[in-house]
Amino acid sequence: MASNPAPCQPLAPLLSEFRDAAVEQAFLRQHLGTTQSQLRIAFIFCSIFYLGFTAVDVVWLGFGPAANVMLAARLSVVIIAFASLALLRIYPESIPVTRLVATGTEIAGSLGFLVIFALRPREFQMHAITMAILIIVLYIYVPNRLVYVLAVAVPVTLMFVLLAHRLSTMLAIELGTTAVLLMLANVFGYVAARRYQLLWREEYRAQVVLKNLSIRDPLTGCYNRRHLHEQLLENEISRAQRYGLSLTVIMCDLDHFKSVNDNYGHYGGDAVLLRFAGLLRSMTRDSIDSVVRYGGEEFLLILPETDLNGAVLLAERLRQTFAGQAIDYNGQVITATASFGVASVNFSASANPAAHHGMIATADNLLYAAKKGGRNQVCSVQLP
Ligand code: GH3
Ligand code: MG
Ligand code: MG
Repeated sequence: MASNPAPCQPLAPLLSEFRDAAVEQAFLRQHLGTTQSQLRIAFIFCSIFYLGFTAVDVVWLGFGPAANVMLAARLSVVIIAFASLALLRIYPESIPVTRLVATGTEIAGSLGFLVIFALRPREFQMHAITMAILIIVLYIYVPNRLVYVLAVAVPVTLMFVLLAHRLSTMLAIELGTTAVLLMLANVFGYVAARRYQLLWREEYRAQVVLKNLSIRDPLTGCYNRRHLHEQLLENEISRAQRYGLSLTVIMCDLDHFKSVNDNYGHYGGDAVLLRFAGLLRSMTRDSIDSVVRYGGEEFLLILPETDLNGAVLLAERLRQTFAGQAIDYNGQVITATASFGVASVNFSASANPAAHHGMIATADNLLYAAKKGGRNQVCSVQLP
């Protein structure tokens, strides 16, 4: 079935993702450029600050066994951040790689910080502040799937509290207060991250709705003529040319539609139009074929990878099915027929490369030949 206008897509409230995996994937793909540029900025700032802390340590603590481990921990985070930047450059189109580097760098940054805390437990309060900032950075500044962020931030927080309990000498009240403070950072971090996730998806949903409004006919939901000429036809012709495939178009028009309107009124005519459009969409391939409302009661089918025989068979099936249907309209039964013009081009190497020029006009001429021949019939031609 050729694609329908996109319905309103529901969101899973806690995960903040589209419930439909295909829609979520389409959103992620569309948002990938923004996600990657935000990740790059996060990685670069993360590296600058880890290097800054390293410089401070070297100046004030110098080198020694513990200082060297801290140095190694911080430099490892910087190296992982730079490796992540390189991976983003190598795989700019990959959603899994983007998520992998986001999660990997989050884990590395968090573990690096825990190592430093374990080596300098006496500066507990300063580390607690850093931990709270780190949590906010994880949730908000490193764009990642919300469930992955939770899987990093919550265990790291627990590990920090556990380490504080075991290693430092602070009072129980200090530890308790810190645990609540970090819980607060997690909750507000999650809430803010969730808001971002929902806003991006709502924006995407609005874009899809607007796009659909601009490329589809409001009555039948079929593509409109503007979309045909701006994008659809050119895309399909260049794809068929690139791979040396066949491309066929079918122009179809309801017979004596004026008299349907005269006999049953404009709404009766609309019911017939809707039934015809529904039939065209249900009998063609979803996401491959396109159904365009070309004029009032005239539709154009674009059939990629379809040769003349296949298209004529389809047109015959459409013709017979439609002619055999009784359309119920307010208790009255309406029957109608349609005529079809089929024009096919084969873009294989030996074919004329300009054969597709005027293929829609040819299908239109064949449609009128079918009308002249008595209507309710199919006329076809293979373009040279
Ligand atoms: P033919 O068999 O030669 O195609 O005859 P026809 O009567 O179908 O052709 P014609 O082009 O003379 O008439 C088309 C009619 O379609 C005229 C127009 O009012 C009607 N029409 C166009 N758009 C719509 C629409 O959206 N709804 C309804 N109900 N009628 C429409
Ligand atoms: Mg007509
Ligand atoms: Mg017409």
